[in-house]
Amino acid sequence: MSENMGLAPPRNPPIKLTRKKVRAGFKKRVIELSGQPVDACYQCGNCSSGCPLAQEMSILPNRIIRLVQLGQKDDIIHNDTIWICASCFQCTVRCPKGIDIQAVMDTLRQIALEEGVDHFGPDQIDPEHAAEVPQPGLVGVYRKLST
Ligand code: SF4
Ligand code: SF4
Repeated sequence: MSENMGLAPPRNPPIKLTRKKVRAGFKKRVIELSGQPVDACYQCGNCSSGCPLAQEMSILPNRIIRLVQLGQKDDIIHNDTIWICASCFQCTVRCPKGIDIQAVMDTLRQIALEEGVDHFGPDQIDPEHAAEVPQPGLVGVYRKLST
């Protein structure tokens, strides 16, 4: 039996901070590109509690915002959360600080793609399955999830 007795894998792993990462320009770039005041976030959790896909994410949306504040670019762009986000705006309308979290997620995907971090590739589709998927669906997936 696994160590966690068959429960879902642990989410929101501890943040490993380094001075170098915190001082890098990642947060500034996210603020510039998204236009969002990420420093205003006080971790109320409203965004995550309303997110319809939170159960699928290994890092919750409020925690992503905290990682942005702390400049932890690598932890964000190599994580599944920014790709699972469906841009539904639920988090954005729930934020008491007026942060458009969806715009931040969009920016983070843009930064990940700029850095060549693809989340999806042709080798991940089983050829038998690919034959049944509508072509516009495949094109849409590639446009969102790969460079
Ligand atoms: S926009 Fe993304 S993060 Fe926000 S509630 Fe929707 S799925 Fe969740
Ligand atoms: S709802 Fe807004 S203030 Fe609250 S945790 Fe999410 S981003 Fe931060």
